[in-house]
Amino acid sequence: MSKTKGDNETRGNDSSAYRDLYSGFIRLHVLHHASEEPVFGLGMIEELQRHGYRISPGSLYPMLHGLEERGYLRSKAIHEGRSRRKEYRATAAGKKALRAARQQIRELFHELVEEAD
Ligand SMILES: [Zn+2]
Repeated sequence: MSKTKGDNETRGNDSSAYRDLYSGFIRLHVLHHASEEPVFGLGMIEELQRHGYRISPGSLYPMLHGLEERGYLRSKAIHEGRSRRKEYRATAAGKKALRAARQQIRELFHELVEEAD
C-alpha cells in the first residue's frame, strides 16, 4: 500500500560518504527544526547543506514520510497558486523523542568529543 519508491533507487545520487552513519543525525536535525517552526522539504535540504550534509530530495522526502508514519511529524499541504507544498511540524511524540535523543546525544558527545580532548 505505501510507496517506497525513491528510497533505494536514489541512494547512488547522494554524495555524502557517511550517509548511513549520519542518517540518525539528519533525522534528529529535521525533528529539531520541525519542533521550533514548520519546515519544508527544500528548506530543510538547504539547512542540512549549511551543516555539511548533502541529501537529495529523493532521500529526504522518504525520510520525512517515515517520520510522519511513525508519528513524529505531522504534515499539512500548503497551496500557493497552482503549486502545493507540504509543511512539517513535530508532534508531541516527536518532541518527546527529541528530548530522549538529546540525552543520548549528550552521552555520545561526552564520550566522543570531550573525553577525546
Ligand atoms: Zn540546523
